[in-house]
Parts: sequence; C-alpha cells; structure tokens
Amino acid sequence: MKHVRRHVQRLAPYVPGEQPRERGLIKLNTNENPFPPSPKVLKAVREAADGRLRLYPNPTAQELRKQLARLHGCGVENVIVGNGSDELLALATRAFVEPGGRIQYFTPSYSLYPVLADIQDAARFEVPLNEDFSLTKLGRASLTFVTTPNAPSGRGYATSELEKLCRSQKEVVVLDEAYVDFAEEHALELALRFSNVIVSRTFSKAYSLCFQRVGYFVGPAKLIGALDRIRDSYNVNGLGQVAALTTLRDLPYYRKNFRLIKKIRGMVTAKLGVLGFEVLPSAANFLLVKPPRFAARTWQKKLRERKVLVRWFAEERVRGYLRVTIGSEREMGAFLRAVRGVLR
Ligand code: PMP
Repeated sequence: MKHVRRHVQRLAPYVPGEQPRERGLIKLNTNENPFPPSPKVLKAVREAADGRLRLYPNPTAQELRKQLARLHGCGVENVIVGNGSDELLALATRAFVEPGGRIQYFTPSYSLYPVLADIQDAARFEVPLNEDFSLTKLGRASLTFVTTPNAPSGRGYATSELEKLCRSQKEVVVLDEAYVDFAEEHALELALRFSNVIVSRTFSKAYSLCFQRVGYFVGPAKLIGALDRIRDSYNVNGLGQVAALTTLRDLPYYRKNFRLIKKIRGMVTAKLGVLGFEVLPSAANFLLVKPPRFAARTWQKKLRERKVLVRWFAEERVRGYLRVTIGSEREMGAFLRAVRGVLR
C-alpha cells in the first residue's frame, strides 16, 4: 500500500467497549461510573457553555494543575493534564521510547499498551502476571506500564511491592492508577520520591467524567516537562477543565460514591458466589468473574439478549471470564436477575 507507513498498516488498533445506540441497555462493559457528576459540576459546565466557546481554553490548564498540585502536595511543574489519561500514555511512549526501543507491561493489563507500542514501532515485552494476577519480575525497557489496581482482574497491589518494582527499573515506570479510588492504597508518593516514576490518574471512572476526557500525570518535573514539550497546545478542552476543576471542589460527593460502589461490589461478589461464579477479589469498580455452565463468550451473548452489556476479552488468560462493571444497586439487581434467567 502506498502512503501509509508499514508498521501502521500492520498494527491492530485499540478496540473500545461497545457504546450502544440502543436505549434501555444496562451498561456494565466499560467501567463507567453509574452516578452522575456532582450537581455543582453539571451547573458549572452548563454556565460555561456560552459565547466563550469561541475562545481557546487555557493552554496549560493552569488552574486545574494548580489545584491538582495542592491536592497531591506537589508543585505545578509535577502535573500535566491530558485529553483523558490515554493521551498522556501515548505522549509517554513518544517522549521516552525511541522507535525500535522497548516497552514492557504485564499481561493481562490495559489493552491499550500493546497498541501504543505498535504505533511507536517499539518492541513489546509482555510479562505474564502470576496465576493469581500478582506481580512478577520485570525485564528492562525504556518504558514500563503497570496497571494498578490491575485491569481486567481488579487485583490491587501494595505500595511496598510497587516500590520494589520501581526500584528494579532504571528507565521510566508509569503506574496507571485509573481505578485507584476504589482500592485500599495508592502509590502517588512513589511519583514524588523516584526520579523515574510517574503516576497516571483520570477523572473518567471515579469522577464520572468519561465524556469530558480529562486525565493527568504526576511525576518528576524533568519527565513531566518532556511530555509538556510534545503535547498539543490546547490538549484539554475548556469544558473539561471547568468540569475537572469543579470536581476538585466537591470531593466529598465523590468519596460517598466510592464507598457505595465498594459496598455494591461486596454485595454482588457474595451473590455471584452463591450462583456458582468464581469471583476474583477486586480493588476496582469492576469484577472479573468466571461463570458456570456456559463459556464466558456465550454468557456475554445471553446477557446481551437480556439487555445487559458486560465485557469479554479474547485474550488467552482471561477468555474464560467476564468483566462486569459495578453499576448502581438497581442496575446490579437487574444484572443478577438476568444471570438467574440465564441459569434457569
Ligand atoms: N488506564 C486504564 C487501566 C483504563 O482502563 C483506562 C480506560 N479505558 C484508561 C487508562 C484511560 O482512561 P481515560 O483516557 O478515560 O482517562
């Protein structure tokens, strides 16, 4: 094929979870938060949507970075905001990995990492997690991605273990904490202590803002500065900045949601156990479950016929499982009814 670079022709693009057109489906397939953003956030976004939309937003998301720095007890120069954390993960591959260099990550983990490696024309070094999804020894690479808590297993990792991992690496380590607000521990301190460690966070999951696309990295000024040099000038849209900033002013609202989601997670774990599912312990807003009787792929189809969407991954290690996002009590009630319907 003319025009298109060979490695781009060859690469398999990222496959996002289904965003259905059909109404009335219970969406437990993309780890979205079942609760809306706080009323203050909705109000702020509505009020910002006026004639000012014609203006460019603040190019450095200055106020948002300032407030994030305050929240995490670091300097503004330690924070970069992106169009979702996905954008920042991509920028990290561009800033830290030469074409032909090496990117490593555990399998299974976030399925975007191999795609980012392919886009950069870098070698992928895939390190299988242990059978119980605990961490194992890494090799060497210019860039290491660690999903913590792990997705899709939901397994959480102790900061002490992550610290050991970071110590074992000379090059850059990105700790992808997309789901950390549902976990018992976070490892942000490592990004402030180590010269090669970045922590990635997002407003998407815990802060109900997938639609607005806002994520951020915290890390050493030298690494954050490198990313800042290569990002688009206006990478974070104005309404996203407003929404994220207002979110930080209403954190108790979200903390209440985390508690509720964790409570529902426990309840669903128990009920699925009774129904014959193997449920892995989760430190995230989803459960990885091995269903009884039928293949996981068949379960996914049967649940869809009953208007419930869950995620299934073809990848060897997890093809026997379904990943189920924790929805509201009402949604999980409907999910459990659908499960009982399939079993009947
Ligand atoms: N990291 C992980 C582990 C994820 O599951 C996701 C969501 N697909 C992201 C990062 C990206 O989230 P966002 O771009 O919405 O911030």
